[in-house]
Amino acid sequence: MTKIWALAVHGGAGPIPGRSYAAEEAHITGVLTEGRRMLSGGEAAVDVVEALVAELEASGLYVAGKGASPNTAGDWELDAAIMDGRTRRAGAVGALQGFASPVRAARLVMDKTPNVLLVSEGAARIAAAAGLQRVTDPGSYYGAVDEDTVQDGAVQMGTVGAVALDIYGDLAAATSTGGVLSKTPGRLGDTPVIGAGTWADERCAVSCTGLGEYFIRANAAADVSARIRYGGAQLGPAVQGALDDVKRLGGNGGMIAVSANGDIAAGFNSSGLKRGLADWQGRFDVATFL
Ligand code: ASP
Repeated sequence: MTKIWALAVHGGAGPIPGRSYAAEEAHITGVLTEGRRMLSGGEAAVDVVEALVAELEASGLYVAGKGASPNTAGDWELDAAIMDGRTRRAGAVGALQGFASPVRAARLVMDKTPNVLLVSEGAARIAAAAGLQRVTDPGSYYGAVDEDTVQDGAVQMGTVGAVALDIYGDLAAATSTGGVLSKTPGRLGDTPVIGAGTWADERCAVSCTGLGEYFIRANAAADVSARIRYGGAQLGPAVQGALDDVKRLGGNGGMIAVSANGDIAAGFNSSGLKRGLADWQGRFDVATFL
């Protein structure tokens, strides 16, 4: 019996036209290769998306984890979420300070608490109790604001995410972000809001990036599943429809998704989307712009 699996990862929706993303694409190639090894070897989708997002966080190449930038008060507040489509259990952290991997903290919320979303001190307590890696000197751990990434006052988007279908037919999604550049203290985007920036159920798994306020207002990630469930849409048109709704509200960004039958979709209405897509049939694509 053929073992169907599918995987997509992203490194954010706001690349600057004309700039080279060779380093990010090389990194995404490595992450995708690792994910292919894990999924074809029988690892569970929820473990794969957590591991791959942790790798993206640790690289410092995206506005998430090590690559995050400070808010207007000079603090690094990070958000992340993970969702297991088989059980629809989910965990998320918001405005987490002082830890290297927000997605690992989100996994703890899912596995070790009765809650779905913990913020700030409460999230930090769970991470500390589990002994997650701390960031004791944020100023030297995180990247400085890269002036190249702020064009004409526009914010760059560099969230990271992964979605997977494993060989058992289960789907999972994970997303992690430093949020938009120069964000207000305490601001949460769509990433930790289950249904907005991150979603997985028995139909599809979705991870979003873009101006989070619009993705929350469009409930964008869960909208992909609703379009399949109630409208009979295929995955590609469902992703496009959800992104069109974000655009209609005035927002932009992108998303990656996989479905239970192994389809993969990546869409964006921003300048591009750093992404990698792979499946059991040998597909292996890495791209940033069209
Ligand atoms: N969606 C993220 C947020 O609004 C930003 C991003 O995708 O880069 O926090």
